[in-house]
Amino acid sequence: MHWLTIAFIAGALLHLLVQFWLSVRQTRHVAAHRNAVPPAFSAVVSAAEHAKAADYTVARQRLGLVELLFDALVLFVMTLGGGIALLGALAARLAGNSPVLAGTVHVLLVLLATGVASLPFSAWRTFVLENRFGFNRTTPAVFIADLFKSAALGSLLGGAIVALVLWTMLATGPHWWLVAWAAWMTFSLVLLWAWPRWIAGFFNKFTPLADESLRNRIDALLERCGFHASAVYVMDGSRRSAHGNAYFTGLGREKRIVFYDTLLRSLSPSQVESVLAHELAHFKLKHIPQRLVVSAVSSFAGFALLGWLVQLDSFYTALGIAQPSASSALLLFVFVLPAFTWVLTPLGAAWSRKHEFEADAFAARYSDGPELGRALVSLYRENASTLTPDPLHSAFYDSHPPPVVRIGRLMTGSATLDGQPARDPGSDPILSSAR
Ligand SMILES: [Zn+2]
Repeated sequence: MHWLTIAFIAGALLHLLVQFWLSVRQTRHVAAHRNAVPPAFSAVVSAAEHAKAADYTVARQRLGLVELLFDALVLFVMTLGGGIALLGALAARLAGNSPVLAGTVHVLLVLLATGVASLPFSAWRTFVLENRFGFNRTTPAVFIADLFKSAALGSLLGGAIVALVLWTMLATGPHWWLVAWAAWMTFSLVLLWAWPRWIAGFFNKFTPLADESLRNRIDALLERCGFHASAVYVMDGSRRSAHGNAYFTGLGREKRIVFYDTLLRSLSPSQVESVLAHELAHFKLKHIPQRLVVSAVSSFAGFALLGWLVQLDSFYTALGIAQPSASSALLLFVFVLPAFTWVLTPLGAAWSRKHEFEADAFAARYSDGPELGRALVSLYRENASTLTPDPLHSAFYDSHPPPVVRIGRLMTGSATLDGQPARDPGSDPILSSAR
């Protein structure tokens, strides 16, 4: 066996094992704390709500375990099992002898196959799991319409960028990967810019915020933080789910503030303001550009690596492809890379949590920290998010800090802008009492 085959199998199996272990830990930890609301939350979260959050978390972990096994199976079937190779032969038969067209069809066929394979899981999640906990608002008609819309959009946008990258591989010489990277970055930035205005509307309805007094409150906050007035929209999130959220999106002058209608229903105006202050902070503190730079650097490294790998015969043969092609290289890369890069997940999560603390501190300075804390409690409660995650599971995956620590900082005013708590969180009663 080639060393790359062994490394891939080992990396993928180790990843599976770590995910499995963390999931079991999370389930045990949450179940063990099911019957005791953390003292810091006992006044605002009832025992029944806390138990519901635990049951919801456990149910999602169980489904996740089955999905993990299934995804690993799909990964091996598509690579070493010859799935990518088989669909490549089919694409060549369908698309004739234009290598760019055949390659694009090849990639789309593989995406279609994996998408169809995961369909039962998303249907189960929506109609069984989310339904059981009272969150689902998606009707079968909306589910099917979403499916067709995202398939059409995916083939259109995905097909375009794949065709472009394949063309650079076949036509622009040995440094094709530099050209492909530049095309990829341009495409990503255009998409980021165009998404809120041109694409999001296919899936949801966005209406300008009508509430005059809330709008005035928001404008005052924007001015305090030195933002140019942005468009504020309400999204019909309730069309699909009872979960609430808010986000700030776009590039340049296309920036938009978006509140889910579900969020506006559950928070007071001052809480909405504090949530928005948190979102604005991600722009003001340059978190968004930092993430863009990291993704530019990592995609540069990825394309450079791919530029080297495509020339090696063993890259194909070691991973289940007898007949090398540009589209097979692209697909193998996308399938196989995560078997090695998953070790970086906790780093990304820790970096994101640092940003979340900073954004909370910004919100505390420009809006109201305790109000943001109360807003978060309300969101945790309404979304049935667990207040007692397993510490290791949380450290590995969570993009947001554990609720007890996060809300503790906001409520006690110890969230400060350098990202460090002003006091030792361990000495803080709202935190130590929760251990
Ligand atoms: Zn945030």
